[in-house]
Amino acid sequence: MSNLQSELKKAIRTIPNYPHEGIMFRDITTLLSNPSAFRRSVDEMVHPFTGAGISQIVGIDARGFIFGGAMAHQLSAGFLPLRKKGKLPYETVTMSYALEYGEAELEIHTDAVKEGEKVILVDDLIATGGTAEAGIKLLQMQGADIVAACFVIDLPDLGGRKKIEDLGVPVRTLIEFEGE
Ligand code: AMP
Repeated sequence: MSNLQSELKKAIRTIPNYPHEGIMFRDITTLLSNPSAFRRSVDEMVHPFTGAGISQIVGIDARGFIFGGAMAHQLSAGFLPLRKKGKLPYETVTMSYALEYGEAELEIHTDAVKEGEKVILVDDLIATGGTAEAGIKLLQMQGADIVAACFVIDLPDLGGRKKIEDLGVPVRTLIEFEGE
């Protein structure tokens, strides 16, 4: 494991059995409040994309907003929020996706992305990939060129990375945790 990976792993707090029995919740609030770990995680996520002409960073509600805003600043790109249902004020397009228990919906403004615009999707963590898949479908409906989907944490046992790569979107993650 690289020095960066061990710093980031140490900066994340794991809460067993939250919010449900059997889930190991990867709490990034401790990474965010650690100046070095926060800065290095943002730098590392944007690293391959400097000079790649990215015009928008698309953050998933809500933890994707924190990394996404910082990444947008770093790349001199704009920021677009993908929000949970009912939060965006203008006309929206909606996509449902499966959660562990039940369903949820993500929304984007109808005029958010221009045809062919280069964007990067970002969230804190990819598990089953259902949330990111819904975001990718919304962006593809608007004709975005999705250059990559970036996550600080991958839970490889849940297969999300493969699901997103099978949609033709390259995935960048910084660290992995085994199990759920
Ligand atoms: P998924 O749609 O299954 O890929 O789940 C990803 C979303 O759920 C992300 O927005 C994560 O923040 C959140 N999430 C899923 N599993 C965990 C976990 N073990 N710890 C922290 N957040 C999680």
